[in-house]
Amino acid sequence: MHLIKDKGICIRSTDYSETSQILTFFTYEGGKVSVIAKGARRAKSSFCGPIEICSAGDMVYSIREGDKLGTLTEFNPTFFSTGIRKKLLAVNCSFLAAELLNIFTQEHDPHPELFEESMAFLKRLDEKADNKVPEFLIAFEFAMLTYTGSMPIIDRCANCKRKFDADWKQYYFSISARGFVCRDCEAAFVDKKAITFESASCLNDTRKCENAKNTVLVQAEELLVEYITYVLEKKPKTAQMVLQLMKSISGR
Ligand SMILES: [Zn+2]
Repeated sequence: MHLIKDKGICIRSTDYSETSQILTFFTYEGGKVSVIAKGARRAKSSFCGPIEICSAGDMVYSIREGDKLGTLTEFNPTFFSTGIRKKLLAVNCSFLAAELLNIFTQEHDPHPELFEESMAFLKRLDEKADNKVPEFLIAFEFAMLTYTGSMPIIDRCANCKRKFDADWKQYYFSISARGFVCRDCEAAFVDKKAITFESASCLNDTRKCENAKNTVLVQAEELLVEYITYVLEKKPKTAQMVLQLMKSISGR
């Protein structure tokens, strides 16, 4: 059994026995990895106390071929998420990010670009005020859907392939069509929802989120959560709380 060095973000944590933790990390080179951290809940362990969700750092672990659970031997945090924990929306978005990474990725299936995007998102949550968070959340969710191959169709009508533009006049999103549908096609999709041009534009190009009003971003995020729920066949547990907090944002 050899030791593996990697960097990882803790995306799940369960207490185990009196003193240990079972942890799931999203790692740079190894993808999702679950490990036991023996003694991590002791105040004076080699891990410097319990490892928390969304802390990230350099790790050393070992795992036997074919085993589901490895053993964490070292963890040196380089990112503590202390700023995140002071802000209600940021902390809930970090839980949502951890939950999504856990359900969208597979064990030992690396996505280095998604790791970088996730780290960038956590750093933004740490630094930015809560009223700037929604645009980064939407961009992160898009990155995750892209790198895990579940992207919705947002550059054209999912049915007739007509290119998305400002002349559509009416805009719809259908989860069963997996994306936008135009007004000529919407009648065929019973689950479609009418959306504003502004929200559609934000989904078509997430850079537009930066200057969007909060109501526009809430509508875009509601659609994304519905879409993600459809793809996963279950609703992410933290999504409702995030949406509620987003609706209460003032000053944007
Ligand atoms: Zn169409």
